Amino acid sequence: MKTIKFTLFVIVVLLASTTQILAAERWLEGYKKVLVIGAHPDDPETMCGGTMIKLREMGVEVVSVYFTSGEAGIPGKTHEESSSIRTAEAKKACEVMGVRAVFMTQIDGNTEINKARYAEMKALIEAEQPDMVITHWPIDSHRDHRICSILVYDAWRQTGYNFDLYYGEVMTGLQTQTFAPNHWVNITKQHDQKVKAYYCHESQDMPVVQEWHDAMEILRGMECHGKYGEAFVKQQWTEE
Ligand SMILES: [Zn+2]
Repeated sequence: MKTIKFTLFVIVVLLASTTQILAAERWLEGYKKVLVIGAHPDDPETMCGGTMIKLREMGVEVVSVYFTSGEAGIPGKTHEESSSIRTAEAKKACEVMGVRAVFMTQIDGNTEINKARYAEMKALIEAEQPDMVITHWPIDSHRDHRICSILVYDAWRQTGYNFDLYYGEVMTGLQTQTFAPNHWVNITKQHDQKVKAYYCHESQDMPVVQEWHDAMEILRGMECHGKYGEAFVKQQWTEE
Protein backbone atom coordinates (compact mmCIF):
# COMPACT_ATOMS: atom_id res chain seq x y z
CA MET A 1 0.00 0.00 0.00
CA LYS A 2 2.84 2.31 0.93
CA THR A 3 4.50 1.61 -2.43
CA ILE A 4 1.28 2.44 -4.32
CA LYS A 5 0.87 5.68 -2.37
CA PHE A 6 4.48 6.62 -3.04
CA THR A 7 4.14 5.81 -6.77
CA LEU A 8 1.00 7.96 -6.99
CA PHE A 9 2.82 10.76 -5.18
CA VAL A 10 5.73 10.58 -7.66
CA ILE A 11 3.31 10.64 -10.63
CA VAL A 12 1.49 13.68 -9.24
CA VAL A 13 4.78 15.54 -8.63
CA LEU A 14 6.02 14.69 -12.15
CA LEU A 15 2.76 15.82 -13.75
CA ALA A 16 2.79 19.05 -11.74
CA SER A 17 6.35 19.90 -12.73
CA THR A 18 5.70 19.06 -16.41
CA THR A 19 2.69 21.39 -16.38
CA GLN A 20 4.81 24.16 -14.90
CA ILE A 21 7.56 23.67 -17.50
CA LEU A 22 4.99 23.89 -20.30
CA ALA A 23 3.30 26.87 -18.67
CA ALA A 24 6.65 28.65 -18.43
CA GLU A 25 7.05 28.54 -22.20
CA ARG A 26 3.58 28.44 -23.76
CA TRP A 27 3.05 32.19 -23.53
CA LEU A 28 5.89 32.78 -26.02
CA GLU A 29 4.09 30.92 -28.79
CA GLY A 30 2.23 32.75 -31.54
CA TYR A 31 4.30 35.94 -31.65
CA LYS A 32 5.74 37.03 -34.98
CA LYS A 33 7.80 40.12 -34.21
CA VAL A 34 9.31 41.27 -30.93
CA LEU A 35 10.96 44.59 -30.07
CA VAL A 36 13.18 44.77 -27.00
CA ILE A 37 13.65 48.43 -26.08
CA GLY A 38 16.52 49.05 -23.66
CA ALA A 39 17.85 52.39 -22.46
CA HIS A 40 21.54 51.68 -23.12
CA PRO A 41 23.69 49.36 -25.19
CA ASP A 42 23.83 46.13 -23.10
CA ASP A 43 20.35 46.57 -21.52
CA PRO A 44 18.36 44.43 -24.02
CA GLU A 45 21.06 41.74 -23.91
CA THR A 46 21.27 41.54 -20.11
CA MET A 47 17.52 41.99 -19.52
CA CYS A 48 16.40 39.24 -21.86
CA GLY A 49 19.17 38.08 -24.23
CA GLY A 50 18.25 34.45 -23.52
CA THR A 51 14.62 35.05 -24.43
CA MET A 52 15.66 36.98 -27.56
CA ILE A 53 17.80 34.04 -28.71
CA LYS A 54 15.03 31.56 -27.88
CA LEU A 55 12.41 33.59 -29.79
CA ARG A 56 14.71 33.81 -32.80
CA GLU A 57 15.21 30.01 -32.64
CA MET A 58 11.39 29.72 -32.70
CA GLY A 59 11.36 31.68 -35.98
CA VAL A 60 10.27 35.01 -34.48
CA GLU A 61 11.72 38.27 -35.86
CA VAL A 62 13.55 40.01 -32.99
CA VAL A 63 14.75 43.62 -32.97
CA SER A 64 17.02 45.08 -30.30
CA VAL A 65 16.24 48.77 -29.87
CA TYR A 66 18.73 51.07 -28.13
CA PHE A 67 17.05 54.15 -26.71
CA THR A 68 20.46 55.92 -26.34
CA SER A 69 23.87 55.03 -27.74
CA GLY A 70 25.64 55.03 -24.37
CA GLU A 71 27.10 58.52 -24.87
CA ALA A 72 27.97 58.96 -21.17
CA GLY A 73 29.08 55.38 -20.57
CA ILE A 74 32.87 55.49 -20.91
CA PRO A 75 34.82 57.67 -18.45
CA GLY A 76 37.34 59.95 -20.17
CA LYS A 77 35.69 59.69 -23.62
CA THR A 78 33.62 62.35 -25.35
CA HIS A 79 29.99 61.64 -26.12
CA GLU A 80 30.90 61.09 -29.78
CA GLU A 81 33.73 58.66 -29.00
CA SER A 82 31.68 56.73 -26.48
CA SER A 83 28.66 56.54 -28.76
CA SER A 84 30.71 55.21 -31.65
CA ILE A 85 32.44 52.53 -29.49
CA ARG A 86 29.19 51.43 -27.82
CA THR A 87 27.20 51.37 -31.06
CA ALA A 88 29.82 49.04 -32.56
CA GLU A 89 29.68 46.81 -29.45
CA ALA A 90 25.87 46.64 -29.60
CA LYS A 91 25.99 45.65 -33.28
CA LYS A 92 28.43 42.84 -32.43
CA ALA A 93 26.16 41.64 -29.60
CA CYS A 94 23.21 41.61 -31.99
CA GLU A 95 25.21 39.51 -34.45
CA VAL A 96 25.85 36.96 -31.68
CA MET A 97 22.12 36.84 -30.87
CA GLY A 98 21.10 36.84 -34.56
CA VAL A 99 18.87 39.90 -34.19
CA ARG A 100 18.65 43.35 -35.84
CA ALA A 101 19.84 46.51 -34.04
CA VAL A 102 18.00 49.86 -34.13
CA PHE A 103 19.34 53.03 -32.51
CA MET A 104 17.09 55.85 -31.29
CA THR A 105 18.22 59.44 -30.71
CA GLN A 106 18.02 60.01 -26.95
CA ILE A 107 21.22 60.91 -25.06
CA ASP A 108 22.58 58.67 -22.28
CA GLY A 109 22.27 60.38 -18.90
CA ASN A 110 20.12 63.15 -20.37
CA THR A 111 16.98 61.38 -21.61
CA GLU A 112 13.80 63.41 -21.95
CA ILE A 113 10.05 63.05 -21.67
CA ASN A 114 8.15 65.61 -23.71
CA LYS A 115 5.58 65.64 -26.51
CA ALA A 116 8.18 65.17 -29.24
CA ARG A 117 9.74 62.18 -27.41
CA TYR A 118 6.32 60.55 -26.87
CA ALA A 119 5.67 60.97 -30.60
CA GLU A 120 9.08 59.56 -31.52
CA MET A 121 8.53 56.35 -29.53
CA LYS A 122 5.03 55.90 -30.92
CA ALA A 123 6.31 56.44 -34.48
CA LEU A 124 9.08 53.86 -34.05
CA ILE A 125 6.66 51.23 -32.76
CA GLU A 126 4.12 51.99 -35.48
CA ALA A 127 6.82 51.67 -38.14
CA GLU A 128 8.10 48.33 -36.77
CA GLN A 129 4.64 46.84 -36.08
CA PRO A 130 5.63 44.36 -33.34
CA ASP A 131 3.12 42.09 -31.65
CA MET A 132 5.25 42.02 -28.48
CA VAL A 133 7.41 44.72 -26.87
CA ILE A 134 9.71 44.14 -23.90
CA THR A 135 11.15 47.10 -22.01
CA HIS A 136 12.41 48.11 -18.56
CA TRP A 137 10.25 47.73 -15.46
CA PRO A 138 9.43 51.38 -14.60
CA ILE A 139 10.64 51.39 -10.98
CA ASP A 140 14.40 51.57 -11.41
CA SER A 141 17.24 53.53 -9.82
CA HIS A 142 18.45 54.64 -13.27
CA ARG A 143 16.52 57.62 -14.64
CA ASP A 144 17.11 56.60 -18.29
CA HIS A 145 15.51 53.20 -17.59
CA ARG A 146 12.47 54.84 -16.02
CA ILE A 147 12.03 57.31 -18.88
CA CYS A 148 12.41 54.60 -21.52
CA SER A 149 9.76 52.49 -19.79
CA ILE A 150 7.29 55.37 -19.44
CA LEU A 151 7.58 56.31 -23.12
CA VAL A 152 6.97 52.70 -24.21
CA TYR A 153 3.97 52.39 -21.88
CA ASP A 154 2.53 55.58 -23.35
CA ALA A 155 3.05 54.30 -26.91
CA TRP A 156 1.21 51.08 -25.92
CA ARG A 157 -1.78 53.19 -24.86
CA GLN A 158 -1.61 55.60 -27.80
CA THR A 159 -1.46 52.79 -30.36
CA GLY A 160 -4.63 51.25 -28.93
CA TYR A 161 -2.93 48.39 -26.99
CA ASN A 162 -2.19 46.65 -30.28
CA PHE A 163 0.86 44.77 -28.99
CA ASP A 164 1.54 42.84 -25.80
CA LEU A 165 3.74 44.77 -23.37
CA TYR A 166 6.14 43.04 -20.99
CA TYR A 167 8.62 44.50 -18.51
CA GLY A 168 11.98 42.87 -17.75
CA GLU A 169 14.62 43.37 -15.07
CA VAL A 170 18.25 44.53 -15.07
CA MET A 171 20.62 44.22 -12.10
CA THR A 172 17.68 43.74 -9.76
CA GLY A 173 18.24 45.30 -6.35
CA LEU A 174 20.77 47.79 -7.70
CA GLN A 175 18.71 49.05 -10.68
CA THR A 176 15.31 47.32 -11.07
CA GLN A 177 13.29 47.65 -7.83
CA THR A 178 10.17 45.90 -6.45
CA PHE A 179 9.93 43.49 -9.39
CA ALA A 180 7.47 40.60 -9.00
CA PRO A 181 7.33 38.62 -12.25
CA ASN A 182 4.36 36.70 -13.61
CA HIS A 183 5.95 35.20 -16.77
CA TRP A 184 9.10 33.09 -17.06
CA VAL A 185 11.39 31.72 -19.78
CA ASN A 186 13.78 28.84 -19.20
CA ILE A 187 17.03 30.03 -20.83
CA THR A 188 19.29 27.19 -19.68
CA LYS A 189 20.20 26.29 -23.28
CA GLN A 190 20.61 29.93 -24.34
CA HIS A 191 22.56 31.14 -21.30
CA ASP A 192 26.09 30.73 -22.71
CA GLN A 193 25.18 32.55 -25.93
CA LYS A 194 23.53 35.33 -23.92
CA VAL A 195 26.71 35.79 -21.87
CA LYS A 196 28.79 35.80 -25.07
CA ALA A 197 26.50 38.51 -26.49
CA TYR A 198 26.72 40.87 -23.53
CA TYR A 199 30.48 40.40 -23.24
CA CYS A 200 30.68 42.16 -26.65
CA HIS A 201 30.27 45.32 -24.54
CA GLU A 202 33.98 45.38 -23.79
CA SER A 203 33.91 49.03 -22.69
CA GLN A 204 31.69 48.06 -19.72
CA ASP A 205 32.52 46.09 -16.56
CA MET A 206 30.93 42.85 -17.69
CA PRO A 207 32.26 40.54 -14.93
CA VAL A 208 30.31 42.68 -12.42
CA VAL A 209 27.20 42.61 -14.62
CA GLN A 210 27.55 38.83 -14.90
CA GLU A 211 27.74 38.44 -11.13
CA TRP A 212 24.39 40.23 -10.77
CA HIS A 213 22.71 38.58 -13.71
CA ASP A 214 23.88 35.02 -13.01
CA ALA A 215 22.37 35.31 -9.51
CA MET A 216 19.10 36.67 -10.94
CA GLU A 217 18.96 34.03 -13.67
CA ILE A 218 19.56 31.21 -11.18
CA LEU A 219 16.67 32.51 -9.05
CA ARG A 220 14.37 32.87 -12.09
CA GLY A 221 15.53 29.42 -13.24
CA MET A 222 14.46 27.93 -9.90
CA GLU A 223 11.06 29.55 -10.35
CA CYS A 224 10.56 27.91 -13.78
CA HIS A 225 12.34 24.58 -13.24
CA GLY A 226 15.48 25.43 -15.19
CA LYS A 227 19.10 26.10 -14.33
CA TYR A 228 18.79 29.65 -15.69
CA GLY A 229 15.70 31.72 -16.37
CA GLU A 230 14.52 35.20 -17.29
CA ALA A 231 11.32 36.69 -15.95
CA PHE A 232 8.80 39.33 -16.96
CA VAL A 233 5.73 41.22 -15.85
CA LYS A 234 2.94 41.37 -18.42
CA GLN A 235 1.14 44.73 -18.51
CA GLN A 236 -2.56 44.03 -18.25
CA TRP A 237 -5.09 46.00 -20.20
CA THR A 238 -7.74 47.61 -18.05
CA GLU A 239 -10.86 49.31 -19.30
CA GLU A 240 -11.13 52.97 -18.34
ZN1 LIG B 1 21.02 50.82 -18.66
